Amino acid sequence: MVIIYWRFNWKRFYEIFLENIRWKIQQLSLTYHSLTFNTHMSKNYAIDCLLEPVFWFVDNFAGYLGKVFVFCVTILTFAVVAIAYWIGLPYWWERNGYMTVFLVIVGNWLLINILFHYYMGVVTSPGHPPHGAMIAEAASICKKCISPKPPRTHHCSVCDKCVLGMDHHCPWLNNCVGYFNARYFFLYMVYMVAGVTFLIVFGIDIGYQVLWVNDSPGTGELIDDPDLIGHPVRLNKSGVFVPVKDSALYDEINFPRQHILPTPLITEAQRISAHTWKRKAVVFMAITCVSVLVALGTLVIMHSKNISCGETSVEAHINKEMKKRNKNFRNPYNYGRRKNWRLFLGLTQNRTFLIHVLFPSRHKPKGTGLTWHSINNALKDWP
Ligand SMILES: [Zn+2]
Ligand SMILES: [Zn+2]
Repeated sequence: MVIIYWRFNWKRFYEIFLENIRWKIQQLSLTYHSLTFNTHMSKNYAIDCLLEPVFWFVDNFAGYLGKVFVFCVTILTFAVVAIAYWIGLPYWWERNGYMTVFLVIVGNWLLINILFHYYMGVVTSPGHPPHGAMIAEAASICKKCISPKPPRTHHCSVCDKCVLGMDHHCPWLNNCVGYFNARYFFLYMVYMVAGVTFLIVFGIDIGYQVLWVNDSPGTGELIDDPDLIGHPVRLNKSGVFVPVKDSALYDEINFPRQHILPTPLITEAQRISAHTWKRKAVVFMAITCVSVLVALGTLVIMHSKNISCGETSVEAHINKEMKKRNKNFRNPYNYGRRKNWRLFLGLTQNRTFLIHVLFPSRHKPKGTGLTWHSINNALKDWP
């Protein structure tokens, strides 16, 4: 007699069960994708769709906002300069006359460079491809302008134009940064960073004295009120300190006329601390200068990196993507760091750093911005 035992194989059952579930999930996923598949659909397209309201806002209002921004930059710059003269000048004059003259010269050199490069950045056209002209090197057609697009040209949706060597649209300049004004834009930022660093370095002691040392005056109203400083005081009937400026008003008992009162030595820093508006101005300067230093300092570092690599901000983004796809990709406009900087600053045709960068200069970059040498066809002695 044979006895048959039935043994249930749990392991096998579990495997089959899992396989079935997996298969069902795949089936559902395939069904979903077959119903929703779109060849034009990609992550970038989805992001573009989601950002559509932002694009709409930029397209319609960036023009107006740009004007407001330029106005704000101008007002802010003049406010900072005015405060530097109002507070910084007397402070340094009291300390050292020669140093003050030196600071005024350096400060004004920075100011002239800031104003010049900002103004030129705002009014100089970045360069646009000519309409209706043949451009032999045109790499593609702009979908929005329906016209040939030279290499390194990109369409700006705010300006609604193609821009040569486009870097980005700058609302602070109310202008596109491109081939013909990129140098002005960059040097404006550099001089601005230098300017606020200058103010911070030579104003830090004022800030320290005003906001730290004289922050909590123990004598209350006496220190806060500039009218009381340097004068003997007496209490009036309401118990408020009032200055005694005229010796005839001295109280004969408490302040005999013959008594010579010691006059405390008042420093300019104490005078600033005691002046409500000067104190507020110092706080304003501290906040403004540090914010500008952080914001523009970061931008200068980013742009310097791009210039060293011979790419615009747009290209930096594109080239990064290209390198991800193809490890052998090389930026065709990277001629080496030294040459990239010389081309960017327009230091060709015997121009010098001393005259053409350290002082305002209206020289244009070499070339038209329409055609470009690439590393494959660059001439050895170019530029
Ligand atoms: Zn275009
Ligand atoms: Zn633009």
